[in-house]
Amino acid sequence: MLDQPTQLSSNGLAARFAAVVGESHVSSDAATLRLHSEDIWKRSASPAVLAVAPATTEELSRVVALAQASGLTLAARGASASYTSAHLPVRGETVSLDLSRMNQVLAIDPASMTVTVQGGCTWAALNAALKPHGLRTPFWGPMSGLVSTIGGGLSQLNAMFGAARYGTSSESVIGLAIVLANGEVLRTGAGLPGAAPFYRNYGPDLAGLFCGDGGVFGIKAEVTLRLMRIPAHEDYVSFAFKSGRDLLLAMAELSRAGIASEMCAFDPGLSEVRMKRASLAEDFGTLRRVVAKEGSLFKGIQQAAKIALAGRDIMEKDDFSLHLIAEGRSAAAVAADIAEARRIALEAKGREIENSIARLIRVTPFPPLNSILGPSGERWAPVHGIASLSAAPLVFDEVDAVFTAMQAELKAAGVFCGYLYTSLSTNALIIEPVFYWPEEHYSIHEKLMEKQHLARLPALPENPAATAAVIEARRRIIEVFARHGCGFFQIGRTYPYRESRDAASIALLEGVKALLDPQGMFNPGGLGLTGGSKG
Ligand SMILES: Cc1cc2nc3c(=O)[nH]c(=O)nc-3n(C[C@H](O)[C@H](O)[C@H](O)COP(=O)(O)OP(=O)(O)OC[C@H]3O[C@@H](n4cnc5c(N)ncnc54)[C@H](O)[C@@H]3O)c2cc1C
Repeated sequence: MLDQPTQLSSNGLAARFAAVVGESHVSSDAATLRLHSEDIWKRSASPAVLAVAPATTEELSRVVALAQASGLTLAARGASASYTSAHLPVRGETVSLDLSRMNQVLAIDPASMTVTVQGGCTWAALNAALKPHGLRTPFWGPMSGLVSTIGGGLSQLNAMFGAARYGTSSESVIGLAIVLANGEVLRTGAGLPGAAPFYRNYGPDLAGLFCGDGGVFGIKAEVTLRLMRIPAHEDYVSFAFKSGRDLLLAMAELSRAGIASEMCAFDPGLSEVRMKRASLAEDFGTLRRVVAKEGSLFKGIQQAAKIALAGRDIMEKDDFSLHLIAEGRSAAAVAADIAEARRIALEAKGREIENSIARLIRVTPFPPLNSILGPSGERWAPVHGIASLSAAPLVFDEVDAVFTAMQAELKAAGVFCGYLYTSLSTNALIIEPVFYWPEEHYSIHEKLMEKQHLARLPALPENPAATAAVIEARRRIIEVFARHGCGFFQIGRTYPYRESRDAASIALLEGVKALLDPQGMFNPGGLGLTGGSKG
């Protein structure tokens, strides 16, 4: 039940939403509203007053129009697998727009090489539907893809599967159907009216306007993506480096060479966390999947045995480890790519190590989200910057200097840090410091983690001092990234987007916001835009 009487209950608005989506798809119980008012980083101080879950574009359009006519604020929610306060309610009378029922793969068209999904479809569901056709999208998902949605991923932009070759999630987009604040549906791309678009570029790139918008311009109801055949061959190689600088220099050269489909790396801190979790050898389910993926039982058992034997000890304690996956149409082409990766990495002071981790990344691309709490139940949150290949080593040195300057403070507060590094196409690297700190968990952790995993972890008490230390470190690190002109995904209400734009861009962005969402009802304050009379 609602805690206080609101406009929604007093004038029967809840019933009017129910008339559109059905009574069972409008929630006002305190537990649901609390869950919908959190992301992995933060809990809103002014929770949503209602959660409404439409199932079709038509229902979505009527819900949005009703919200606008009623002067409400709307916060679209995929899985809340993000950590930049992007969809948290910031003022009273916010309705959580729950996209979990808009989870369908609407049409797969292998002849035109397109797929159309609803905005709330997960990356895991998309890949499962495409696999029998031997197809996938070029960028094919973030590691949170078991739960995170394609609409959320396009609103935030993503890194990971396919990103080292094809770039971010928006690079796979052909067309979008966007529900605007007045309920009108805007469709982008080339194609006949009423049919799915088959090509993105037709005049100005309207789809691009809504990619990375944090959901502040409209709601992604339907998404059409480009398809490709799943490459028949893949192989894996891993290397160890003695410094973050050497690692980034190697990653930059590997990116320029355009070898990898995925490339990710960990510093010794993050590797230590991984080692504190269950060892690879203990994870029988993973080994079973290794056997299944190899196609031949003999080869599969050989690979699984290699991984089990390598266990946790495939690198030294102070190693930065890099894991690269190459894919292609022929075994010979993939072998040539791996050989070139080896040449580049060894020349850049790398040492080849067992490739178990690279292999396991592909075996379970979308694992359960158990890593959102640390090995002793600590809270977890990353922060990141997208750096140019040439600037990345210097940016890393300066970020690391923040950790050195704050070392005593972070240690006293029990904060533990590590780094994840990934690459985007042939021209960018992502540096992602990751924090673990002793602090209570939220309902979102209970929702997203496997119950038996969560049950094994201690429940920690509230610890505002530790969180304050993380907030300060995050602030200083974002400042370093911004000073170097880094880009950011997941801008939400955390990264300085507006501040980094020139006056002409700000005028355009504010103008677009005022035109598409005149009351500023979608995620007010997102991207730093004021937008609309209510913003
Ligand atoms: C364990 C873990 C691993 C992760 N791995 C990766 C990774 O490999 N790569 C990566 O890039 N990120 C990763 N992330 C970050 C995060 O999962 C992604 O940013 C993801 O895209 C969030 O999707 P979501 O559906 O949960 O969106 P939400 O968090 O629900 O929403 C994100 C934003 O998008 C808006 N939004 C959601 N749906 C729509 C829609 N249909 N229309 C308009 N706006 C919408 C929301 O209002 C909000 O502003 C990871 C997170 C976790 C917890």
